[in-house]
Amino acid sequence: MQNRRTFIQTAAAAGLASTVTASPAGAAARYDQLGRSPHYHLPPVLKSKTGLKIVKIETFTQGATLSFVRITADDGSEGWGQLSTYDADLAAAVLHRKLAGVFLNEDPADLDALVDRAIEANYKYPWSFVCRALSGLDTAVWDWLGKREGKSVCELLGGKPRPFPVYGSSMSREIKPADEAARLKRLMDEKGYAAFKVRVGSVAGHDRDQWPGRTEELIPAVRKAVGDGVDLLADGNSCYTPPRAIEVGRLMEDNGYIHFEEPCPFWELEWTAETAKALTVPVAGGEQDNDLAQWRRMIAMNAVDIVQPDILYVGGVTRSLRVAAMALEKDMPCVPHSANLAMVTLFSLHVMGAILNAGPHVEFSIESTPWTDGLFSPALEVKEGKVMIPAEPGWGVTINPDWLAQAERQVSEL
Ligand SMILES: [Mg+2]
Repeated sequence: MQNRRTFIQTAAAAGLASTVTASPAGAAARYDQLGRSPHYHLPPVLKSKTGLKIVKIETFTQGATLSFVRITADDGSEGWGQLSTYDADLAAAVLHRKLAGVFLNEDPADLDALVDRAIEANYKYPWSFVCRALSGLDTAVWDWLGKREGKSVCELLGGKPRPFPVYGSSMSREIKPADEAARLKRLMDEKGYAAFKVRVGSVAGHDRDQWPGRTEELIPAVRKAVGDGVDLLADGNSCYTPPRAIEVGRLMEDNGYIHFEEPCPFWELEWTAETAKALTVPVAGGEQDNDLAQWRRMIAMNAVDIVQPDILYVGGVTRSLRVAAMALEKDMPCVPHSANLAMVTLFSLHVMGAILNAGPHVEFSIESTPWTDGLFSPALEVKEGKVMIPAEPGWGVTINPDWLAQAERQVSEL
């Protein structure tokens, strides 16, 4: 099992090139207004202009479930991205109403400035759906840049496409502890997973368990089933006050867990910091957070030990790199939140393959979700506990044309 220091040392020992690199010793910890710490270095591909302009932005939406984004430049070249899940149709509406005007007629290589302009142009309501919409544009630009350079996004960010370890992430609280333990053991044997995450407590649950005693039964049952060689993580989904979070955390420590996610309501940074201070099991969090100044506070006060930006909630790859760079300043690992098998897990793989402070594994949902089946090819596949980071240009996948043909298409263009 690894602790957070080991994550960093392992990454450094592997000599991974990265756009998130250590700053000179003693550099002052200063930030600009939008979360660029001294550790954030502009990816080289964003350092020079291409002379091209974005002339068309399309969304392809199927209800509230999912929406893809295509940008087209004035030479006809294209890039594909995805808006965040959960009310994706609302995110698509925000994209066309509030953000398309920021990106149209601009050079895609100005992305670092465009993501800031997108926030500042919407300064009365800058987070949540603005960031969810921005994520679609940002990820489409990264695909466009990769295709233009003939490189995968992972390579553009300084990484190397390779098989990357994943942790099997359970989304279920309805499953009984004995059944959860048995299914994780089965997945370990069948697919070689060497890490899993389970759910404890109840969502925003005011200290209530899903049913009385479930958490106390689950934590040791899973450890017993998978043995000592497997990394175990647990997610509280904003359930606990600090006293109860600390009790649950102690039980995790007794059973060798390595990650306690969102123990307290995520907006209660002081509660989370109090919990993290009391425990030796590292506390993780931040999946819902999309304000980079809030990220800066969270990291500065040691509310968490592991940062978990969701690439599609925080506003895309570019802003996720800024969070990773802030975390690097405190030697904190970054493990993006990627709780479904649409493109967010693919994006996380590319980023994790490149950043210096990548945690040991990418989140990979083990739940069957028909709405993500066949969305893009090649599909992400777990072999010996790892998933290949695509090496083809851009994101390295093709979105299912049948899915796109059935989707509602909206267009903003010059
Ligand atoms: Mg979570």
